Amino acid sequence: MSLINENFIKIPSSYLFSEIARRVNQLQQEQPDAAIIRMGIGDVSLPLPEASVEAMLRATEEQRHRETFRGYGPEQGYDFLRKAICENDYHTRGIQLEMDEVFVSDGSKSDTGNIGDIFSTANKVAITDPGYPVYVDTNAMAGRAGEPTETGTWSNLVYLKANESNGFVPALPTEKVDLIYLCYPNNPTGTTLTRDQLKKWVDYAREHKSILLFDAAYEAFITEPDVPHSIYEIEGAREVAIEFRSFSKTAGFTGTRCAYTIVPRNLMAYTKNGDAIALNRLWNRRHTTKFNGTSYIVQRAAEATYSPEGKAQVRAMINYYMENARIIREGLSKAGYTIYGGINAPYIWAKAPQGMSSWNYFDYLLKEKKLVTTPGAGFGASGEGFVRFSAFGQREDTLEAMKRME
Ligand SMILES: *Cc1c(COP(=O)(O)O)cnc(C)c1O
Repeated sequence: MSLINENFIKIPSSYLFSEIARRVNQLQQEQPDAAIIRMGIGDVSLPLPEASVEAMLRATEEQRHRETFRGYGPEQGYDFLRKAICENDYHTRGIQLEMDEVFVSDGSKSDTGNIGDIFSTANKVAITDPGYPVYVDTNAMAGRAGEPTETGTWSNLVYLKANESNGFVPALPTEKVDLIYLCYPNNPTGTTLTRDQLKKWVDYAREHKSILLFDAAYEAFITEPDVPHSIYEIEGAREVAIEFRSFSKTAGFTGTRCAYTIVPRNLMAYTKNGDAIALNRLWNRRHTTKFNGTSYIVQRAAEATYSPEGKAQVRAMINYYMENARIIREGLSKAGYTIYGGINAPYIWAKAPQGMSSWNYFDYLLKEKKLVTTPGAGFGASGEGFVRFSAFGQREDTLEAMKRME
């Protein structure tokens, strides 16, 4: 008899985005003419940068000829891309980084989920609440989250609450934790940590020999000077942090698929006996065994985002989305809503009117305004009472949506 991994059946089946889709479909069936504007799911709407498309066409042509054809590539990514990443995303910010500390992949969703493979299930895990559901669910699958409780939390996870009363800056945990997921700029709240605030986490991790898993998927959307783009801008972070970056939101690669993970060489975790082991070695082993590399064509597309034209095109895309964010901020503020985020991130976190739950507010916006948002409660208990507006839509839709909110 084959036995299943029973952790999977503990995970609640109603995934956030499928429940949203169900409610939107239902409305569409009841009112086929309703002009529904989607400001929910965090997918981009602009096409790829021209430089990336050109690079893919060239790479495709190479694949056509015996002389230039490429088969299996290095699982960690081609040197041309790893070099471009080091030089453009790190060296320019004064961060030292070598190519063999960069692992190219097909996405940060996979990386933030798969990273758990190299850590013991005995680790105590802390997760910001609200947060990206992948962190919770992948730890639950691994058996690191304990049991689901009646309040929708997991018995063995430590929730780092980010809410209005702490200005969306979670306090350090009172119990000792070993793995800490941080996502800044934050999805879903759109808020950030300053250098000093982030330094407290680095110091905590150094003191407790913990590891920070820093998801910087929205780094490119930062506009304020005091917000760090990389955790390695903080002194000592190379010894305690793994950083995840993605081309998905930065350059419109959500359907093209490319991301990377930084595992510094001097980042250590421990055996039960207390021996220090380099995580770079473990992740390299895991990555080369279970992953076969991002396609050559896509890595050329990612490399092209660092060319002068590519950089200008990426900047223009981000500016477009951040102008949407400004329009949403202004529209919701004028309509009298309390809002957060949208300055260093493409998400606006809007407080539901007095006493309304986030799903009720979601239903109200869907039925009365024909707007699809994301209910905050879907990101964790502390998201209750909020909905997330995304700035990733088209300009006309964003303007029309705010007209409806007036
Ligand atoms: C969109 C997003 C990512 C990127 O995921 P990919 O798999 O690279 O598309 C990572 N983290 C967060 C929090 C996100 O919202």
